[in-house]
Amino acid sequence: MLYSNLNINEKGHLTIGGLDAEDLAAEFGTPLYFMDEEMLRVNCRTYVDAMHRYFGPEAAPLYASKALCFKGVYPVIESEGMYADVVSPGEIYTALAAGFPAEKLFFHGTNKTDEDIRYGVSSGVGCFVVDNANELRSLERIAGELGTKQKILLRLTVGLDPHTLEAINTGRVDSQFGVPIDTGQADGFVREALACENVEVAGFHSHVGSQIFESDSFNRQVEILAEYAAKLRDETGFVIRELNIGGGLGVRYTEQDPLLDIPERIAEIAAHLKTTCERLGLDIPRVFMEPGRSIVANAGVTLYTTGGTKEVRGYRNYVTVDGGMTDNPRYALYKSEYTVLNASRMNDAADYECTIAGRCCESGDRIAEYVRIAEPERGDIIAVLTTGAYNYSMASNYNRVPRPAMVMLSGGKARLVVRRESFEDIIKNEI
Ligand SMILES: *Cc1c(COP(=O)(O)O)cnc(C)c1O
Repeated sequence: MLYSNLNINEKGHLTIGGLDAEDLAAEFGTPLYFMDEEMLRVNCRTYVDAMHRYFGPEAAPLYASKALCFKGVYPVIESEGMYADVVSPGEIYTALAAGFPAEKLFFHGTNKTDEDIRYGVSSGVGCFVVDNANELRSLERIAGELGTKQKILLRLTVGLDPHTLEAINTGRVDSQFGVPIDTGQADGFVREALACENVEVAGFHSHVGSQIFESDSFNRQVEILAEYAAKLRDETGFVIRELNIGGGLGVRYTEQDPLLDIPERIAEIAAHLKTTCERLGLDIPRVFMEPGRSIVANAGVTLYTTGGTKEVRGYRNYVTVDGGMTDNPRYALYKSEYTVLNASRMNDAADYECTIAGRCCESGDRIAEYVRIAEPERGDIIAVLTTGAYNYSMASNYNRVPRPAMVMLSGGKARLVVRRESFEDIIKNEI
């Protein structure tokens, strides 16, 4: 099986972290998001340990909140020694409501409004990742009004294409994120920031994309950033103290995906940064990384109840589930592949080729196409693996489908961490 926390019990049911998927569905209802806290912790530790070992004790991973943002995630990542990045006031609010320290938050976002900026500064957010000159000017003014000096990183684009999906590829020159080095525009941006009185430039940020498996893009990224830092030092005397190289390490959704050795990859990036810095006579900066997907994806499983099968003769078989694009829009958005199991019949041959369709009135509402599972009967529990990232955080109420509940497995027990939305929740803001 794809992960070590999955197994089959004597009833032929899927177990996740030792718990029977059918029992979970019966107790909490479906669709149900399941999170394995232990796997989440192991993923955090992998980053924290490898970053300390290869980049030094000051280095730290930031958890990219957008992958999965709810109160219950923050105590876990904090106790594992992680910082967090947030991309909106809503994410800041959630982290603070969970008791996460504001000074460990890095505030991203390509269009922070003045209101957002004021909220971030007055909440005591540790670092702003400033996307552009408009934001810089507002931040300079607002920090001044509030009588603080805000620590910032400047978001630069390094012009790399990490050979991944177009829609999640942000590091190229033509992007709405950050300011490009290639076009020369970064020079003006950095100089303007250095001249500000109410912000303190700690260094640079860049994020090249998502679901990246190859090492080239990260190696090239740190090289470009270090070379740019050296150029600036020579021209202005400014030396970066911090370098945030973003997130994006790939995870395994299906058996066909490679299994990335994260510590090995971090060691490689660190070695590359070290040689580059030595060549340029640059002190090695404090390094941050921003993993989101690789922290939460494999810790999550979604359970659905199937409404049964439908054969469109001469074409294909459909298996319907009681959720779909409302709880997981990733197939609709990116044609992302998933591993699907019939959790009720794990000992039967997985030889029924089918398309898993959701419940919305939308032909794109699919979770997977042409997957093979044990032929289900109406009422069977269907498990979709690796749904911890970009599922709950992207969920919607399209067709007025309430968002599912989430349970977290800790210490052998599943506890409810997000209540299932009710119909009243859905209309609660309507006057
Ligand atoms: C999305 C994003 C991340 C996290 O990416 P993953 O692929 O989930 O690791 C990190 N940093 C920034 C700026 C992002 O936009």
